[in-house]
Amino acid sequence: MLKELSASLCGPGLPSLSGNIYCVGRNYADHAKELQNEVPREPLIFLKAPAALRPFAEGPIAYPGESFHHEVELVLLIGRYVALGAKSEAKPGAIAAIGIGLDLTRREVQEQLKKKGHPWTLAKSFAGSALLHPLRALDPELPLENIDFRLDVNGEGRQTGKSSDMLFGFTSILQYLVELHPLYPGDLIYTGTPAGVGPLRKGDTMRIQSQKLGIDAQGRL
Ligand code: ZN
Repeated sequence: MLKELSASLCGPGLPSLSGNIYCVGRNYADHAKELQNEVPREPLIFLKAPAALRPFAEGPIAYPGESFHHEVELVLLIGRYVALGAKSEAKPGAIAAIGIGLDLTRREVQEQLKKKGHPWTLAKSFAGSALLHPLRALDPELPLENIDFRLDVNGEGRQTGKSSDMLFGFTSILQYLVELHPLYPGDLIYTGTPAGVGPLRKGDTMRIQSQKLGIDAQGRL
């Protein structure tokens, strides 16, 4: 499964997917506020299973009765091994590619899990919950601190973000992750979503765009 996904999402010259999918929650202050969450002091990390991954163009597989929320995010692909604790190696040079993905969330389930103090896994990891558009190899000229991205649903603007608004930038996220995990080529990191999350319904058309990354693609739920 990962082999086929790697072929369609990573392209030539990029590492194949390792299956590790790290996600950052509440990484944009305006999004933390819209869900009445505190702005975190350190990155909030959760995981998705490799089975959650699916090309954006194909849309999600699972469709539980409750609505999904869309979370459009910049996604990083790690390009080289970074040993456990090697913070000085956890830097943009370790990133092979960048792209746009959707972290789909069963928001009602997540609210219940949060109330009980339980892990978010059932709300965040299910088949098709990690949608990903083919990644772009990182151009050394690309200003990482200034990448725009947006999501429209049915022709209506829903979420716009830029990497400069992240509470924890790419380097901080990598440095935080290597405190507990070595990073492997092919690891994916969903870096958090800006404000404007909202429901997606069956039949909705999603359009993701980034001028800096040269991405303009449509998918359907
Ligand atoms: Zn997210």
